[in-house]
Amino acid sequence: MTYKLLTPGPLTTSVTVKAAMQEDHCTWDEGYKTITQWIRSQLLELAEVSAEEYTAVLMQGSGTFGVESVISSVLRPDETLLICVNGAYGQRLAQMAARHQIPTVVYEVREDQVFDSKVVEELLKKHPAIRALAVVHSETTSGILNPLTELSQICQAHQLTFIVDAMSSFGGIAIPVAQLGIHYLISSANKCIQGVPGFSFAICQKEHLEKTQGLARTLSLDLYDQYAVMEADGGKWRYTSPTHTVLAFAQALKELAAEGGIQARYTRYARNNQILRQKMQELGFETHVKTHQGPFITAFYYPTDHQFSFPSFYAYLKTAGYAIYPGKISDVNCFRVGNIGEIYEEDMLNLTQAIQQYLIRGINE
Ligand SMILES: *Cc1c(COP(=O)(O)O)cnc(C)c1O
Repeated sequence: MTYKLLTPGPLTTSVTVKAAMQEDHCTWDEGYKTITQWIRSQLLELAEVSAEEYTAVLMQGSGTFGVESVISSVLRPDETLLICVNGAYGQRLAQMAARHQIPTVVYEVREDQVFDSKVVEELLKKHPAIRALAVVHSETTSGILNPLTELSQICQAHQLTFIVDAMSSFGGIAIPVAQLGIHYLISSANKCIQGVPGFSFAICQKEHLEKTQGLARTLSLDLYDQYAVMEADGGKWRYTSPTHTVLAFAQALKELAAEGGIQARYTRYARNNQILRQKMQELGFETHVKTHQGPFITAFYYPTDHQFSFPSFYAYLKTAGYAIYPGKISDVNCFRVGNIGEIYEEDMLNLTQAIQQYLIRGINE
């Protein structure tokens, strides 16, 4: 049975994106390398950066591999990393840094809170070895959208390397990467650009990246090496690249442009999210995040006046044609609904209608 994914990735893709994978390509072929180069240049445009100042490096694997590639490749051994955490993906940044024995300071707040720049300033005073700051933009755990402007100002004032995990936001909301002084922004093929899983990418400030040769703590995730080979060999990836995923991603980029670019996609997502939250509120559901709710994914508390079983709820909605997501908030029971991908207003209406039916059915049983 087919169903649509109301999950934050992988997500529902268009028929034409899936169809683009029907061709087999060899990885050293000029035609294939040209596609990689075209993707790299398109990503720079989406990031609002110039090819003189920035470069896009593609990396095999899911989004986590891309984040780990950056975290393990760009810091000098004597540099401490400040990690701002308000959810599971922020914690994952800290886990990676620990694995690679990178000295870190973790600034953690509750999953429904954003960061206080005064606290960041205090931490910088207390720990002068901090030379880099990493943060998740859209924390997919809760759906909160962490503001980047103040953190960006702090990074620029203290000349910190600024690393942003923009996995579930890039392509779905404007992020002026150069203006924010971001050195490394990471996202993946299967989120707001609406491709299929298989690779991640980093938008890298070239001046910084070019000083990182030899710093990588792994071979396969060596960001500088991947960059150097892609540059020297006109779009060749080190090691086998996910050829079908690359073709699907090129098609997804064309479809993003055809939709009207990031602004149009943002408008669709924001509208989906608004309808979802409004209908859910009418049904008595409460969102976990009260301020800074992002337009991509929403965490709802389990209803209190209902014998609620997530597995039964999930199964019911799946027969109605939609897969939702379990919660990931640490101390409260939530489920999550994503509204990104090939998802439109009518999907939000169909879903919330099915939820209403489920609640009525439960009461009558
Ligand atoms: C999806 C996501 C990731 C990467 O997850 P993968 O399962 O490795 O693709 C990282 N950070 C955030 C914020 C995400 O939403």
